[in-house]
Amino acid sequence: MPELPEVETIAKDLRKMIAGLTIAEVKVDYGKIVGTDLAGFAPSLTGRTIGDVGRIGKWLKMDLDSGFTLLAHLKMTGQFVLEEKPGALASQWPAHARVGFKLVGEGVEKTLFYLDIRKFGRLRVFDQESLTNYLDFLALGPDPLNLNSDRFHKIITSKKGRLKQILLDQTLVSGLGNIYADESLFAASLSPNRTTDSLTKLETAHLLAKIQAILTEAIEFRGSTVENYRALDGPGSFQDRHQVYGKSGKPCPKCGQILVKIRIGGRGTVHCPACQT
Ligand SMILES: [Zn+2]
Repeated sequence: MPELPEVETIAKDLRKMIAGLTIAEVKVDYGKIVGTDLAGFAPSLTGRTIGDVGRIGKWLKMDLDSGFTLLAHLKMTGQFVLEEKPGALASQWPAHARVGFKLVGEGVEKTLFYLDIRKFGRLRVFDQESLTNYLDFLALGPDPLNLNSDRFHKIITSKKGRLKQILLDQTLVSGLGNIYADESLFAASLSPNRTTDSLTKLETAHLLAKIQAILTEAIEFRGSTVENYRALDGPGSFQDRHQVYGKSGKPCPKCGQILVKIRIGGRGTVHCPACQT
């Protein structure tokens, strides 16, 4: 599932490649992705010009000139692909394309396809009021890149549980998933099994510094391409820098002991029992 660096990369690519274009036509091939208001989805977007594209946690946020906002969550296998050849919306769609947007500008016609193999992704259009209500409902925690160590310590220790599970709770901190939680805990030498009430301020400050450094570096490398993630302008390469994620049974890069995979809250977690305490 795309996490903060992957969604940030997709947002950057979308901003570069489609901001300023107008949505001329929308076709939906699989209604569940656009929610209950299938009939209202295309009309609420058609004729609107795309403004800024950003990110809230793992959600993509596309502003439209009408004051409306398109939110997209890619879940397991969602992907945006841009077809530069005119007429693509009316031609054969790419495999697993579920929604298509014909975009036009001065002398330009492109088609943005939303692809989703497993079809868990979500695209939703909101006016300003319903966007506020929906974000209240999601109750996303702050972005880890915008946190200071005092606030992070308060948030992390506000809920009892194992550290790994707490880091994945999007209502506490939004944007981290399995890859960056495992990598950050390894970098901070903290066991994913630690209970949050045992953490000192020094430990949480160290962890936040590692989370921020890893996320920033991962954004520079366009995210991690494991399974099917790929941004519009190409895949990521941060997977080549992973220290522990996907490496159970291999030697720890710090101490040489074998990395072990355990399950915490139903999620596979790779760690070094010797280094991470
Ligand atoms: Zn180790």
